[in-house]
Amino acid sequence: MNFPDTRDRALIKLHEFVRRVGGYSSNRNHVIPHHENVSCLSAAIRHRLLTEWEVAEAPLTRYAASTVEKFTQEVYWRAYWKGWLSLRPQVWDDYLEGIEEHSDADKIRQGKGPVAVMNGFARELIETGYLHNHSRMWFAGYWVHVARLPWQLGAKFFQDHLLDFDPASNTLSWRWVAGLQTPGKTYLPRRTNIEKYLASPLLDPYGLDLLENPTAVMPENVGRPEVTRPLMPRVEVPQDGKVLWIHEEDLNPESSPLGAYRPSKIVVTGEFCGKSKLQKDWLIAALDDVARRAGKHYDASVEHVDDLIAWVRENGEAEIVAMRPEVGPLHDRLDSFKKAGLKLSLLVRPEDRYLRSLARSGFFGFWKKLRLRMASGDFPTSEQQELF
Ligand SMILES: Cc1cc2nc3c(=O)[nH]c(=O)nc-3n(C[C@H](O)[C@H](O)[C@H](O)COP(=O)(O)OP(=O)(O)OC[C@H]3O[C@@H](n4cnc5c(N)ncnc54)[C@H](O)[C@@H]3O)c2cc1C
Repeated sequence: MNFPDTRDRALIKLHEFVRRVGGYSSNRNHVIPHHENVSCLSAAIRHRLLTEWEVAEAPLTRYAASTVEKFTQEVYWRAYWKGWLSLRPQVWDDYLEGIEEHSDADKIRQGKGPVAVMNGFARELIETGYLHNHSRMWFAGYWVHVARLPWQLGAKFFQDHLLDFDPASNTLSWRWVAGLQTPGKTYLPRRTNIEKYLASPLLDPYGLDLLENPTAVMPENVGRPEVTRPLMPRVEVPQDGKVLWIHEEDLNPESSPLGAYRPSKIVVTGEFCGKSKLQKDWLIAALDDVARRAGKHYDASVEHVDDLIAWVRENGEAEIVAMRPEVGPLHDRLDSFKKAGLKLSLLVRPEDRYLRSLARSGFFGFWKKLRLRMASGDFPTSEQQELF
């Protein structure tokens, strides 16, 4: 399996995939060995080796927008979830607070449960850092509604292994499976569906009878989380000469509002605590890649730094400019950076600001407005007007 960890490799994989993307809408749901019917670009997109809009635009060199609409939509599901969570950060805090160990979880995580295909997915996740979307849905549905384990612990299992782990896509997809995201709707893994979409070499029937007619665990008192952070601070690009901080949330500063910035120095950091070996290895390669690209692009010295606060104290450099990390583990650390005296100027891409403003309600309203904007050539541009 190949999950590109440099921008050049990701671009090569994107262009290879573009040749096959015409069949995406009919083939996407099938889980086949090596996953050639999907792009496997999620880790690159999540860490912004590629932006969503360059991935969405690439197929348009060969196909009409309508032919590849399903693929474009999926790419923007990610942006939708990200915007949705950014407007309601309390949902991330609630997830973290709800993680509690359970004595039955280990055997499912270790691939020693009663359903062979689910054991295969648990092993695939640990051994490759990836699962196909349909496998993620089946596994999450099995975890919640058949094994009857807390969804937060399943989401944490994915968090600890996925190379593309994304606080928004992961948390909100697990909430959706558990019936919390769309009140009254859960996702159940059914034997007939698995037999239809899982390729025969992967389809071990052992235990599938447990998925004959599963019953949903319906959560009680499901509410619709309110928008608690409607506005995103508007920060202008500061004067040249400050330290540019590059982190794993955006490994493509060249194409960001900081592309023309002239930093005095560049520091690159990664969060390694709690990550699996595969996640660490992927990130080390991606950070090396961005350090190399940034050194060339900005013509400045680049330093890999383990601890940003300690580095600032040693170097007496408190003024830092960076792309804003979205809701998630790195965002959670911003307060401690500020308390330690770091003066952070955190920038947001205009496209992200606009997409976020569309994510107040459901995906289909989001998509309708975005599709119109794309059709008129107004997205992406560097001057996006948010809706509020
Ligand atoms: C329980 C569960 C947990 C998930 N956790 C994550 C996660 O932590 N990180 C993550 O990036 N995706 C997550 N997804 C969404 C989706 O499964 C993956 O994005 C997709 O499988 C990645 O494979 P790909 O790059 O080959 O996708 P492709 O099918 O090639 O799609 C292209 C891109 O579109 C985006 N995308 C596709 N499907 C979805 C989707 N359903 N939701 C959001 N974005 C999508 C991804 O960026 C993906 O790389 C989760 C889905 C479920 C059901």
